[in-house]
Amino acid sequence: MSDRSATRVLLQPSWVLLPDGSVARDTAVLVAGPRIEAVLPAAAAAGVDAERVDLPGHLLIPGLVNLHTHVGAGPIGRAVSEDFPLPAGMPFYVPLSRLWQHAYDESVVERYRSIVEWDLLGMLRTGTTTVLNHASTDTEGYLELAVRSGVRTFAGPTVPMDVAHRLGRLEGGATRRDDSTASEVQATQLAGFRELAQRWEGRADRITLVLGPAAVHAVDYAVLEAVAEISAELGSRVTTHLCQAPGELAETDRRYGLTPLRVLEKVGLANERLVAAHGTYLPEQDLELAASSGITVVHCASRKAKEAVVSPSVAFREAGIRVGLGTDGFSCDMVEELKFAAVLGKIGTGRTDTPTAADVLRTATATNADALGRDDLGRIRAGALADLVAVDLRGPAVAPVLDPVQSLVYYGNGRDVSFSMVHGEPVVRDGRVRTLDQDRVATAAADALGSIWTEAIERGLLDDVLQAPSGLALPMEPRA
Ligand SMILES: [Zn+2]
Repeated sequence: MSDRSATRVLLQPSWVLLPDGSVARDTAVLVAGPRIEAVLPAAAAAGVDAERVDLPGHLLIPGLVNLHTHVGAGPIGRAVSEDFPLPAGMPFYVPLSRLWQHAYDESVVERYRSIVEWDLLGMLRTGTTTVLNHASTDTEGYLELAVRSGVRTFAGPTVPMDVAHRLGRLEGGATRRDDSTASEVQATQLAGFRELAQRWEGRADRITLVLGPAAVHAVDYAVLEAVAEISAELGSRVTTHLCQAPGELAETDRRYGLTPLRVLEKVGLANERLVAAHGTYLPEQDLELAASSGITVVHCASRKAKEAVVSPSVAFREAGIRVGLGTDGFSCDMVEELKFAAVLGKIGTGRTDTPTAADVLRTATATNADALGRDDLGRIRAGALADLVAVDLRGPAVAPVLDPVQSLVYYGNGRDVSFSMVHGEPVVRDGRVRTLDQDRVATAAADALGSIWTEAIERGLLDDVLQAPSGLALPMEPRA
């Protein structure tokens, strides 16, 4: 192999998703270094000097972007309280906050990293190539692991870190939240952001730092103003939670006499750099501001569905609001999230023709990339970065294929991903993540989760949600 071909890879799938939403047949994609050099007819690719990757029966799509999650938090809370009887409007995280508080304790940090790695493995395995991580703890530990795993990430620490402050806890069937992190502590945490960004920005060409105030009602006003100032100065994205639960609106109204979005507008954060998760209870009178300000509202379909809630994502889009898609932890499979977004969108609108499979796939690729200010991601065209995913549509639960995008969204899942690359470098080959030692990661994560859950049960941290734990067996198998 010549030096030149060593850096060039020719992907030859059955179908390629193009930026206009059409699906091309007999088309190859040539990758040179970190970028897509050309999208060309298969016949024209015959003489190209490059390593060839044959992907028969595969649809090649841009790498999926998970626009809202808390890496590591999800596996800790998985299958603990999914069927718990939540009071109406209570977010799903509230019964789990004491478990997370324990898992984020400094004494647990090494074990927590094993779980972060397991979460990253799950995301890469199922077709995610870019993650916006609203880090729940140990941001730099996460960034280390992200570099090692090969994922592209936008990430930043949640302000404030303290779980009791930002999530509250379950008390007498209701959410109880106290402002337990002082304003000065929040300000100090934020003050470290510039240095953090300097240390990490651009590492391995895949790291971008973002600011992460937890939510309007949980962050000191002066700290929100400082976030706006840093974001304007550095051009950093800001990620937060917005109108996730009714209690958040009541608290903000009590404090400011304003809706959460109006507070964000007042401090200078309601702009195109804001990526705000949920928006479920965004008041009608704020729809126009959400649209005109250019913010992105991130739909987290599966997360809210567990609370028996369908967020009005289609109505937001029809009002001109940019709507992205994320998992918000628990599930890390963005292909499953596409399915949730499509079918819950239909339930929400009462219409079968919206959103379509093509709509939700565009959301998870180009729209999510746009929300991050990156038109060089999320589309397959010459010059874009080579973050690419190939999904095998030949399986018995998926084929036959008439419309590859519908087949993917309605019948596939992330385990059908057999190939991916990030920044032109291979991550998944033959359905296995090649950048991580899968068996080591699985063993370490099983040990970590087993010990954290055992401690949580012994200390009564799960008494609210677990009457009689029946599981705690962790045969974790990385092949998915
Ligand atoms: Zn979240």
